[in-house]
Amino acid sequence: MRLYPVFAALKGRPVLVVGGGYVAARKTAALLAAGAHVRVGAPALSAPLAQWLAQGRIVHNAGAFEEYWLDDVWLVVAATDDRRINAQVAAAAQLRRIFVNVVDDAELSSFHVPAVIDRAPLLVAISSGGAAPMLARWLRERLEILLDHALGPLAALLQRRRGAIRARHRNLSARRDFYERLFAGRIWQMLRAGNGNVAERELDRALVASTPAPTGSVALVGAGPGDPGLLTLRALRLLNEADVILHDRLVGAEILDLARRDAQRIAVGKQASHHHVTQERIHALMLEHARAGRRVVRLKGGDPFVFGRGGEELEFLRTHDVPYEVVPGITAALACAAYAGVPLTHRDHAQSVRLVTAHCKESLDTLDWRALAAERQTLAIYMGVAQLDTLRDRLLAHGRAATTPFALIENGTRPEQRVITGSLADLPRLQRQHGVQSPALLILGEVAALASKLAWFGQDLRELERAA
Ligand code: SAH
Repeated sequence: MRLYPVFAALKGRPVLVVGGGYVAARKTAALLAAGAHVRVGAPALSAPLAQWLAQGRIVHNAGAFEEYWLDDVWLVVAATDDRRINAQVAAAAQLRRIFVNVVDDAELSSFHVPAVIDRAPLLVAISSGGAAPMLARWLRERLEILLDHALGPLAALLQRRRGAIRARHRNLSARRDFYERLFAGRIWQMLRAGNGNVAERELDRALVASTPAPTGSVALVGAGPGDPGLLTLRALRLLNEADVILHDRLVGAEILDLARRDAQRIAVGKQASHHHVTQERIHALMLEHARAGRRVVRLKGGDPFVFGRGGEELEFLRTHDVPYEVVPGITAALACAAYAGVPLTHRDHAQSVRLVTAHCKESLDTLDWRALAAERQTLAIYMGVAQLDTLRDRLLAHGRAATTPFALIENGTRPEQRVITGSLADLPRLQRQHGVQSPALLILGEVAALASKLAWFGQDLRELERAA
C-alpha cells in the first residue's frame, strides 16, 4: 500500500497510548517530545510511565480499554502485547476516523511511524510502508552516520533569516543559488565550532555581497591508527565532503577509500629514509587549495596534535587567514594499548602515562631521563624503533629496573599487528630478533605485563607467550 507522508503537529493536542509496558513508554516518549498531551490507558504502568505520571507529564486511564478514552484525541497508538485488544482499539478508532498506529502491525494501522533521524528542527523520516522495517532501520543507521549534527542549528538559523533571504532574493532561482553557495561554504564549520553568532554574521554578510568569492577551508583531521572503525563520525563526514585530501603516507587505503570518490588525494606524509614532501610544501599546498575555494582535509595518522606537527600547520593557516577546524583522532598510544590489552593506567601499577617521542639522538638528549625512569608510570614511546639501545641504557642508568615489562606494538590495530613483550634489559635484542619495524609503539611500565593476560586482537596469542 502506498502511503502519504505527513509530519503531525501534536503540540498541546491529546493523544492516546493504549498499553503500559516498555513499548508504550517508548512511543509515549516520542509523543511527549513532540509536545503532545499523552493519555496512557492501561491497568498498570511500567517504571518510566509511572515516573512521568508522578511528574504530571501524562494522564493515566486506569483499567481495561474503554471507548470513551478516544474522546477528543487526535491520534491513537495501540501498544499492548495482546493482538485482540490492539484490534479492538484499532476498530474503535477507525469508526471515529481517528488515525491509529498498532505497534508492529501494519495491517491494523491507519498511520505508520517512520524511523527518524533527528536534527531538530530538521527531521528525516524513513518508511518502508510496513514492507521491510529492518531495511528502514538499517538505512536510518546509515544516514545517522552521514548527516552532520550541524544540520539542526543550520535549519534553525535559516528559519530565523528566512524572511531576510526572501526579501533580498525575490526570484526563486537567485534564492536557490544563494542557498547553494551557503551550503557549499564555511557555515558548517562555524556551526560545528559552536559559533552560532559567527555563522549568523557570515550569512548576513553573504546576503549583502553580490557574488562572494568562494572561501575554502582546511580541516585538520586525525585518521586514527589504521583500523577504519576507529575513525570518528566527524572525520568520516569531512572525508565525504572534501574536495582535496592531503594525507600522510601512514594513512591506509581503507580509510582513503571512504572519502568522496572524486576528491583529489595527495600523499604528503613523511616517511623515514624516503623522499618526502617538506613541511613547507605541505603548507603551500594547503594554502593553494584553500585559496582556490576548496574544502581541504589535512588527514594525519593518529591525532593531529600528538607528534603530528598539527600545531605548526595551524599557526601557518592562522597567519594566512585560512579558516580551519580540528578533528581529534585516536592516537597510537591509546589505540595500541587497547588493541594489545595493555591498560595504560591501573590502580595497582601506574598512576600516570607519558607520551614521549624518541625520534632521533637529539630528541633523546633533551628528555628528562630521571623523570622517565620513575616507577609506577607508563611510558608510551613514539618513533622509537631505531633508538632502543640508547633508550634502554639511559633508563637503566637512571634507575629503572631491568625487569620492567614492555610491549612493543608494530602496525597496531591493523590486520598485521604484532605485539612483542619482554623486559627492558632484553628490549633491543627482542626487537632485532623479531625484526620489528616502523610504525611501532613501545609501551614500557608495569602495566605492559598485562598484555599476555588481556590480549584479544589478531595475532596468534601463543606467539605472545613465546616472546615473553
Ligand atoms: N600523530 C600520530 C603519531 C605520529 S608519529 C598519532 O597520534 O598516533 C608516528 C609514530 O606513531 C610512529 O613512528 C609510531 O611510533 C606511532 N604509530 C602510529 N601509528 C601506529 C600504529 N598503527 N602502530 C604502532 N605505532 C604507530
